[in-house]
Amino acid sequence: MLEVEALSSRYGRITALHEVSLRVDGGELVALVGANGAGKSTLLRALSGVQPVSGGSIRFEGSDVTRRSPRSRVQMGIVQVPEGRQVFTPLSVEDNLRLGAFVRPPGEAEESLARVYGLFPILAGKRREAAGTLSGGQQQMLAIGRALMARPRLLLLDEPSMGLAPRLVAEIFATIRALREAATTILLVDQNARAALSIADRAYVLEVGRVALAGRGSELLDDDAVRQAYLGL
Ligand code: ATP
Repeated sequence: MLEVEALSSRYGRITALHEVSLRVDGGELVALVGANGAGKSTLLRALSGVQPVSGGSIRFEGSDVTRRSPRSRVQMGIVQVPEGRQVFTPLSVEDNLRLGAFVRPPGEAEESLARVYGLFPILAGKRREAAGTLSGGQQQMLAIGRALMARPRLLLLDEPSMGLAPRLVAEIFATIRALREAATTILLVDQNARAALSIADRAYVLEVGRVALAGRGSELLDDDAVRQAYLGL
């Protein structure tokens, strides 16, 4: 579904991604782990088209999208849940969700809303409330729900568990697993490497802008170098 070939990206003179290659197959949940500053967010943003690339290519379902606009990528089905949630706090929960459907035919919105409310019943109960009144975990659900309104074929999740209490972290990971079981293809970045590797089919370890290791999630969880560097064991 997604093939990234020798992708490079820079901030001025700082190279944030150096010839990164990876792939995500349809139906897979792939995790991207690595220390702070390894380039994980930069990679997701490059896939969304909001971060310029200086070399390499991104292919999605057979088309080269490297130079396509962010909007056109959303239309093709590449949808990112940004780091830090970034919901529109003065707007109602439902208006936030409806905004997620901006690239879709208007007739679809009610069915999409019903699906999102089915997945997150708590949001249904708060549909008229301002998003700013939701807890951190609920705002994260809203951010994921908003992305689902765009009917993603590939969902890019940037740090969905960041800043959440442990109970909510478990809930968010359970949601991600449920999405994957419902056949959404997911590329997941999370600081919580153990949890991310546990639910991932495959994973890539990024180290200062390069892919250092790749393998099945369970294999990497058992890998001594990964355990020492990322799992604190
Ligand atoms: P984190 O978990 O801290 O977000 P990350 O793995 O997502 O880490 P990136 O945020 O992609 O890493 O950063 C990769 C590199 O690019 C780092 O060296 C970082 O300092 C640099 N960088 C990121 N954003 C900018 C920016 N806006 N301007 C300059 N350098 C940046």
